[in-house]
Amino acid sequence: MGTITGYAALQAGAALEPFTFERRPVGSNDVRIQISYCGVCHSDIHQARDEWGGAIFPMVPGHEIVGTVVNVGADVKKFHEGETVGVGCFVDSCRSCLSCTKGLEQYCEAGMILTYNGLDKNGQPTYGGYSSHIVVNELYLLKVPQPLAPEGVAPLLCAGITTYSPLRQWGVGKGHRLGVVGLGGLGHMAVKFGKAFGAEVTVFSRSDTKRSEAERLGATDFAATSQEGTFSRLARQFDFIIDTVSGVHDYNAYLDLLKTDGTYIVVGAPSEPISIGAFPLILRRRRMVGSLIGGIRETQEMLDFCGEQGITSDVEVIKIQQINEAYERVLRGDVRFRFVIDMESLSAAG
Ligand code: NAP
Ligand code: ZN
Ligand code: ZN
Repeated sequence: MGTITGYAALQAGAALEPFTFERRPVGSNDVRIQISYCGVCHSDIHQARDEWGGAIFPMVPGHEIVGTVVNVGADVKKFHEGETVGVGCFVDSCRSCLSCTKGLEQYCEAGMILTYNGLDKNGQPTYGGYSSHIVVNELYLLKVPQPLAPEGVAPLLCAGITTYSPLRQWGVGKGHRLGVVGLGGLGHMAVKFGKAFGAEVTVFSRSDTKRSEAERLGATDFAATSQEGTFSRLARQFDFIIDTVSGVHDYNAYLDLLKTDGTYIVVGAPSEPISIGAFPLILRRRRMVGSLIGGIRETQEMLDFCGEQGITSDVEVIKIQQINEAYERVLRGDVRFRFVIDMESLSAAG
């Protein structure tokens, strides 16, 4: 259904550049969306540089999508033209395995179909949100609560649900001390949700530069990990720690900050295997768990919660032409706290 414009990495590690491609026609259960905003997730960088392996090129990244419905298929029931909608990290799954039937499509036994860097059911590569339009089956679409600013909603579709889901799963709330490691896109949402759920939040950041912003986001304590004495000061203080770090670092030092029976939640996805000593786990019956984004049902629940609480992501809106510079700034930790691309810039000159 027509040619789409977007930005793509033509090969691993290449700078992103303008790219045109085709999307499938709108099927009877499909919705065609004009994309307004797309967040820039660190996973976009990992994949555009093929740091996790197996990437498909050309790659049009982007899985934090907000847009307007411009066309619906004949059998679409839940969405109508003109509505503001969201698309997250996947656009389809088998719909019949145990995970899918439980609303945990992200753990689909056949593998979820990623919004980009995946293969669709028709065998064609999927292309993501750094583009003008996308076509998605209505089962994989989210409703965006009206009062929220759409650019601040876009990052909720990945950074938001990735932190909301495990904090809910493990019952983080009142009376708990929560540590958030890394104050980037995921980290700043973990602070907001931790606070909204009633926990007392401490931010762990490499330097002191994000201290006042951490407090503004709702943290009650801030720990610069480069500062001597940080780890001994906070030993065995935490019920939960959520680790959002994108690069290789020492998990053992943080494990020692957990109380007996404390839970370490890994959501950051460095490309290298992580090394864990057995003793930090054994000695205090601590557990280490992972978590991957969230299913459609829970993502809608998270968006509705954000609508009620007035929670959005803190964003810096950029033009698509600034995307390569934005990637460099994300790698330097120089973002407060998520870049979001204004997709109208696609049609601008330059
Ligand atoms: P981001 O905005 O770059 O934030 C990561 C933060 O980690 C940085 O701001 C920095 O915080 C800290 N950091 C970076 N490198 C570090 C290092 N080598 N050592 C210690 N701290 C470091 O990235 P993001 O978009 O939030 O994504 C974070 C990670 O989560 C990525 O690996 C991404 O692929 C992954 N992810 C996982 C899921 C999932 O479902 N599990 C979903 C989305 C993303 P400070 O400056 O405060 O130190
Ligand atoms: Zn993401
Ligand atoms: Zn499935």
